[in-house]
Amino acid sequence: MTGILPWIAAGLLLVLVAVVLRDGMQLRRLIRWARQPIGTPVPDAGGRWGDAFVALHQRARGAAEQREQLHEALERFRQAAQAMPDGVVILGRQLVIEWANGQAEHLLGIDNGRDVGAPVINIVREPNFVAYLQGQDYATPRLLRSVRMPGQSLQVRAVPFGQGRLMLLVRDVTQFERLETMRRDFVANVSHELKTPLTVVSGFIDTLGDGWSDLSPDEAKHLLTLAGEQASRMRHLIEDLLTLSALETDAPPQEEQVSMAAVLADVREEAVVLSAGRHEIVLVDNGPPGLLGNPRELRSAFGNLASNAVRYTPAGGRIDLLWQRESNGEAVFTVADNGIGIEPQHIGRLTERFYRVDRGRSRETGGTGLGLAIVKHVLERHGGRLHVESKPGEGSRFAARLPARRVAAA
Ligand code: ADP
Repeated sequence: MTGILPWIAAGLLLVLVAVVLRDGMQLRRLIRWARQPIGTPVPDAGGRWGDAFVALHQRARGAAEQREQLHEALERFRQAAQAMPDGVVILGRQLVIEWANGQAEHLLGIDNGRDVGAPVINIVREPNFVAYLQGQDYATPRLLRSVRMPGQSLQVRAVPFGQGRLMLLVRDVTQFERLETMRRDFVANVSHELKTPLTVVSGFIDTLGDGWSDLSPDEAKHLLTLAGEQASRMRHLIEDLLTLSALETDAPPQEEQVSMAAVLADVREEAVVLSAGRHEIVLVDNGPPGLLGNPRELRSAFGNLASNAVRYTPAGGRIDLLWQRESNGEAVFTVADNGIGIEPQHIGRLTERFYRVDRGRSRETGGTGLGLAIVKHVLERHGGRLHVESKPGEGSRFAARLPARRVAAA
């Protein structure tokens, strides 16, 4: 019995040594494997070591997948922020730029490559912008007149998030500001236009209130004529305003086959009545007999051009009304006069509402300052455009051009 014990002890020792050696080897393999890139196949090991390798491998793969998903989500967020039409800047503590999208780079002059890590107020130094960010009152957005791009207006809004971070949203509101200015100017213009005739009419009513009997019949007639003229001036203005507003807000015109002979005859007739024999008015109709469009709108546009020619051509002048088809298929209504003409610097602005070269002359002849704005709108609604040529002292040519498809469809 005693003889067997040493053999058992030696056997156990051997087994122990073998286990320690095997574990040491597996541990080394594990360390070597752990140093390899994620995804390297697990070493082949049986038994519990094999289970351990597989468990570790699964864990490492899970972590890598999570990291990949996180990276993709971040990339998607970046792409979304990059695609936004507004500028986005992420600011860290001390207003340091962490990231800006392309639109912010463009609007604020930030360069992602150069400026990340710099305080944004060192890059965009406009005092209004600096005061807004340092004031820390971000409840309302701030309007900036860009110094970098003169004439451009930007709306900037800071949104605090996370710990001490800010998201800066920058929007180009130049167009909106321009429209707002136009709206304000328009209201001011209308009020101004209505004020003068109203003053005359209310003066007349005051005089009436003081008693008819003090006035001679001639004086009374004169006052009545004056008040009547001013009342009709107001009526014209309001009619033109309503026409313009309908043209701007209504759906596209109700279209039909327009008989051009009838439209042209009406336009000529109107011009003849307005001229009251002071001008020679000639109509030449060489154009297409029909047009697809809105007869009321076309008559109003062509009528405005003809009445302008009468009003801005001194007595004895000549006015030509010409309807023809061009070689490119367009149909053109031209009004040519040998009247006072227009200086070149005004030509581009004539279709603006209330734009007049000579305010006094326009008013004297019953103008509202809206005629050419109406013409422009009507032509735009018909896919056409207005072309103006003029020489001061020699005369003007206003051509209303309508696309070939309107003739072909008629
Ligand atoms: P208005 O009611 O003042 O005539 P319009 O919009 O019709 O308004 O025209 C704008 C301005 O364009 C006029 O005030 C006038 O100065 C100028 N204008 C228009 N047509 C002529 C023309 N045939 N000859 C000279 N000036 C013209």
